[in-house]
Amino acid sequence: MNNASLPVLVAGGGIGGLAAALALTQQGFEVKVLEQASQIGEIGAGMQLGPNAFHAFDALGVGEQARSRAVYTDYMVMHDAIDEYQVGYIPTGDAFRQRFGNPYAVIHRVDAHSALLEGVKANGQVDMHTSISVQAVEQDDHTVTVIDQHGHRHQGQALVAADGVKSAVRAQLVGDPHRVTGHVVYRAVVDKADFPAELQWNAASIWVGPNCHLVHYPLRGGEQYNVVVTFHSREVETWGVTEGSAEEVQSYFQEVCPKARQLIDLPKHWKRWATADRDPIAQWTYGRTTLLGDAAHPTTQYMAQGACMAIEDAVTLREALKANHNDLFKGFDLYQRSRIARTARIVLASREMGRIYHAKGVERLVRNDLWRGRTPERFYDAMEWLYGWRVDNCLAPIEFPGVAA
Ligand SMILES: Cc1cc2nc3c(=O)[nH]c(=O)nc-3n(C[C@H](O)[C@H](O)[C@H](O)COP(=O)(O)OP(=O)(O)OC[C@H]3O[C@@H](n4cnc5c(N)ncnc54)[C@H](O)[C@@H]3O)c2cc1C
Repeated sequence: MNNASLPVLVAGGGIGGLAAALALTQQGFEVKVLEQASQIGEIGAGMQLGPNAFHAFDALGVGEQARSRAVYTDYMVMHDAIDEYQVGYIPTGDAFRQRFGNPYAVIHRVDAHSALLEGVKANGQVDMHTSISVQAVEQDDHTVTVIDQHGHRHQGQALVAADGVKSAVRAQLVGDPHRVTGHVVYRAVVDKADFPAELQWNAASIWVGPNCHLVHYPLRGGEQYNVVVTFHSREVETWGVTEGSAEEVQSYFQEVCPKARQLIDLPKHWKRWATADRDPIAQWTYGRTTLLGDAAHPTTQYMAQGACMAIEDAVTLREALKANHNDLFKGFDLYQRSRIARTARIVLASREMGRIYHAKGVERLVRNDLWRGRTPERFYDAMEWLYGWRVDNCLAPIEFPGVAA
């Protein structure tokens, strides 16, 4: 069924697209990446990576590149942003690493992306094209054709659409609406010299408050700190990224304690994200095309797992193709059946985490009581479904009776 002389096309050169490109070449496919930006790269912000992400990096052969750029945190901590009460504390040192076989870490997004890009360059089988915006897809029994913004046609034997939260491919094949959350995220990276000494913790730290929260953690050997603040907007929001304003963000954190509040005074420049997600769907594969990363499962950020899932997707795609001797149809089907429930759980759990973070009134009291006295082992048990992901258990296909098309 495969037209083996053609490449597999990958729409998007973000973390998901590069991971997919690397995974596909490891199965012997020629790969052509089509990226809309004029340069392959990432935004200036941090992200958290669970051990599951490092298992996936390892499977792609770039684990050391990722680990060497990451900061291994000692713990995760949640404080109530009004009274500084410690709501939860999870050590992520040796016991955590032993349990899950890899660290919990924080990393600059550019550095995570670079780890994958180095892998792609070293393997030399990926043809990268920038300034190409995928507009439409056509498919027949033998080929898939992507039409770009200039009307040029790119032919392949298959297409992996990793074109992000606003995926043009998903818009054409699925056409489902997005769900604007009304939650606005401000992100910035601050130099250590400008970051308060009393908050220079080697931890993934979150301050949770009524209709808002603040996150901070170190990057690049502690030379920088990532600052992310989120609030429920008073405005009617439109999904997208704009320049932020210090005046706006300061107007939202009046109730927050001074220790946490100083975070919002730090950045010189803010980027402002009005966020959205989509309801999970039970079909990602349409003929010779499948979705991957945010294009497949766009989520709010509260589980800090969107990029981790994209890298897992890529490894699972490779394993599904391997299990089916590179039969694209069977491989794409096994891939989606192995991934949809797990990633839908992230999307739905993330919405719930947003509610827990932003609790007020009696819900706040419940939130602050949730993990009282909980031991690290009980936290680790609760995280097993997420961080226990491995290459050798990633093919876990399930049927969707009455759900899948
Ligand atoms: C505030 C915030 C915090 C987050 N924190 C974390 C975290 O701590 N940990 C974590 O794992 N995840 C986190 N995430 C999620 C993570 O950023 C995404 O899940 C991840 O970037 C998805 O990767 P992707 O490659 O699928 O999509 P993207 O990173 O969006 O990449 C898509 C690529 O496709 C390109 N593209 C788009 N449209 C087209 C087109 N039509 N044609 C060609 N190219 C196109 C884009 O230019 C881009 O390069 C966070 C997200 C947000 C918003």
